[in-house]
Amino acid sequence: MKQCAAALAAIFVCVTLSGGAAAQDDENQVLQDAMAFAMHDAAFTVYHEVGHMLVGELGLPVLGKEEDAVDTLATIWLLNDEDQDYAFNALIDASDGWYYNAVNSTGSGVDEFSYYDEHSLDIQRAYAMVCLMVGADPDNFGETADIYELDPDQQENCAYTYEQALASWGTLLSAHELNGNESAPIEVIYEDAGDFEEFAVALKEEGVLERAADEITSSYALPQPVTFRATQCGEANAYYDPSAGEVTYCYELAAEMYNLYVYDIAGWGDTGEDTGLE
Ligand SMILES: [Zn+2]
Repeated sequence: MKQCAAALAAIFVCVTLSGGAAAQDDENQVLQDAMAFAMHDAAFTVYHEVGHMLVGELGLPVLGKEEDAVDTLATIWLLNDEDQDYAFNALIDASDGWYYNAVNSTGSGVDEFSYYDEHSLDIQRAYAMVCLMVGADPDNFGETADIYELDPDQQENCAYTYEQALASWGTLLSAHELNGNESAPIEVIYEDAGDFEEFAVALKEEGVLERAADEITSSYALPQPVTFRATQCGEANAYYDPSAGEVTYCYELAAEMYNLYVYDIAGWGDTGEDTGLE
């Protein structure tokens, strides 16, 4: 990515030209940016899982791949978030996350790809997001679409893609709006984070799970209580379990996205790992 390559060059220039204290400041800045990146990715991931949760709890029909449909819904939610600065950065970081995961997996050769998977390829997920972003808001995301080398015709078509997605989800969800009723509650639970404590602290500070829970219960009537749980899973993952009515976010995923930023985007090395997100 040219955007990140430029940032990367700047980091090396700073480290080379400055003294020890300034270099330490740069290092701290990269680690701070890595945590922000991990939390932005968590926001998108939680919204994605909340999309699965709505499909399950509300019994929504899905045409096409559910994974693509809930990626779209997560993107629509962020595009319409009242906190525009937060949402802007979350969208850019989440799409870059897919992009860099794709770069990592491409490194192991095209034979490694599964051409049919319930998820689209990471690189397709990145481009689908950027298309919705520029389709919704060309002023704010035109530069991002240019960096992703979406040509002007494609960017124009993305406006239709976004409008269609917005109208389709709007139609499906309108039947479940509160209309004076209350939603069943969503309980947010943080399990012991062990070695991942710094990620649990950041998740709580950002209110990633609480923000998503409020968004749902202030808009839609869930028929039964749901739990959002942050926990250690033994793998970098996130998922919705219909039988338990639970969305789980694994602390390991935040750690993996943090490392992706530090090693692959800031350029301190190469993680060479895929997230295996569900
Ligand atoms: Zn999914």
